[in-house]
Amino acid sequence: RGLKKYFPLRKGVFRRAVGHVQAVDDVSFFVNERETLGLVGESGCGKSTTGRTLLHLLEPTAGEVFFDGRNVGQILKKDPKELRRQMQIIFQDPYGSLNPRMTVHNIVGEAVRYHGLAGQADLDDYVCDILAKCGLRPEHRFRYPHEFSGGQRQRIGIARALALKPRFVVCDEPVSALDVSIQSQVLNLLKDLQREMKLTYLFISHDLSVVRHISDRIAVMYLGRLVELAAKADFFSNPLHPYTQALLSAIPLPDPTKKRERILLEGDVPSPINPPPGCRFHTRCPRAMERCRVEVPPFIDVGGDHFVACFLHSGA
Ligand code: SF4
Ligand code: MG
Repeated sequence: RGLKKYFPLRKGVFRRAVGHVQAVDDVSFFVNERETLGLVGESGCGKSTTGRTLLHLLEPTAGEVFFDGRNVGQILKKDPKELRRQMQIIFQDPYGSLNPRMTVHNIVGEAVRYHGLAGQADLDDYVCDILAKCGLRPEHRFRYPHEFSGGQRQRIGIARALALKPRFVVCDEPVSALDVSIQSQVLNLLKDLQREMKLTYLFISHDLSVVRHISDRIAVMYLGRLVELAAKADFFSNPLHPYTQALLSAIPLPDPTKKRERILLEGDVPSPINPPPGCRFHTRCPRAMERCRVEVPPFIDVGGDHFVACFLHSGA
């Protein structure tokens, strides 16, 4: 609720603060239990920062995060262990996020032991069980990450996160580094595990076709702010925000006999250091009006749990 993450920008030998990068600026949303909320946007729009700030891996500059109605920041101060177990993250780069000097057994088993989910006697069975669930061969558990393919390494990253039996998982571009042929295997694995382990996902990706495959609802970010959020069917059939419309116009329609006009946006995404005032999209919006340059459009429900931040729809 009202989540903000600003990074100080320092310059010179004295590292004087000369401004802020407004990576996430006043973002509010909820994720329903056992659903997948897809979070899309171009690189640098604040998706990963949102995911990390939600888990308090980054301290929010402002705003609050609630998990099961409990304030995450407050609980982490009192009893960090339990919440850390329940809220996990899967990273984009399966190689960089796995310790190359640890065997798969230790990578997965370390946190299991720390959280007391298995004792010395049953740890090995526990690790074998989660590896098998993630489509890895338990007999390979004493190998090192470099001995596995990219897809298998991502399965190890998934096994590590899910070994703790979390309830909420931030999946931060978990298939972006993989070949397209491997992507759907890993997406299907994540879907199967979600059903089996009753998981709730925030699924971050820059790729709309990936998000379409896995999400129940989809949210779009632009320059640190949410611009639209809707149930998947509604999102694809009735996109309301001009930015969402432009993004959707770039992906092929499932029906090849239908044609859609490609909406080309002019210019680049402005810098998050001095973002444009008013609607942050106004510098590139084909439908910008005078007020868009000065007023910030509120992010509101325009009916049917379809949220949008644009004066064309949330006028008043
Ligand atoms: Fe475009 Fe204005 Fe809507 Fe922003 S508020 S998306 S500039 S029409
Ligand atoms: Mg990212």
